[in-house]
Amino acid sequence: VIDIQHLSKSYGTHEVLKDINFSVSKGEVVSMIGSSGSGKSTLLRCINLLEKPSGGQIIYNGENILDDKHNIYEYRKNLGMVFQQFNLFNNHNVLNNCVVGQVKVLKRSKEEAERVAMKYLKVVGMDQYLNAMPKQLSGGQKQRVAIARALSMEPEVILFDEPTSALDPEMVGEVLKVMKELAESGLTMIIVTHEMEFAREVSKRVIFMDKGVIAEEGTPDQIFNHPTKERTREFLQRTF
Ligand code: ATP
Ligand code: MG
Repeated sequence: VIDIQHLSKSYGTHEVLKDINFSVSKGEVVSMIGSSGSGKSTLLRCINLLEKPSGGQIIYNGENILDDKHNIYEYRKNLGMVFQQFNLFNNHNVLNNCVVGQVKVLKRSKEEAERVAMKYLKVVGMDQYLNAMPKQLSGGQKQRVAIARALSMEPEVILFDEPTSALDPEMVGEVLKVMKELAESGLTMIIVTHEMEFAREVSKRVIFMDKGVIAEEGTPDQIFNHPTKERTREFLQRTF
């Protein structure tokens, strides 16, 4: 679905991403791990063009979407994003959080959008809270609504940036459970996470980022049990 080639990103003279190459196929779940500042969020933000890459190509279904002729708004409809800090619309109730994007961006009717929103709020177990406002919800509930909102746009790929890092420990499980179900349902997902057990269990591939490069990439078994690079071993030792 997405093929990243020689992607780079600099802020001024600071080269945050260097020659990043990887691809994600349909239905694949890829986890990204690495220390703070290694460029994981920047990479996700480049993939959905919240940041403009400094160089390289993003091939989406066979076309380089960094070509000038491509409409980045059209491209973005194919990608969902779930953030660490939920980023819900605080002035909208749960149902509307999942409806407004569909109406504005996808031009769905309100009725159609509500039907779709209901479907995904059920998937994340939040269909009993349609009228609740975000401030009345726990962190885990907010993140499940944010996931339902992303799903409601029916994107081809969902990018998750540390979706459980802002949660109290007792809420991490409910969010990971929803994400695991989505992974098993065949959704294409790129997940930046510090939850190593989850990455091991759910992903088909793990990418270890270090100082702006992909230092090592492989199956969970390769990365967690048989890392070949010294810096991967160091990182894992610090983490476990
Ligand atoms: P964390 O695990 O802490 O979320 P990360 O791997 O997501 O870290 P990034 O947020 O991608 O790391 O940041 C990578 C580097 O890019 C950092 O050195 C950061 O200071 C720098 N950086 C990120 N965004 C900007 C920006 N808008 N302007 C300048 N520098 C930035
Ligand atoms: Mg980050």
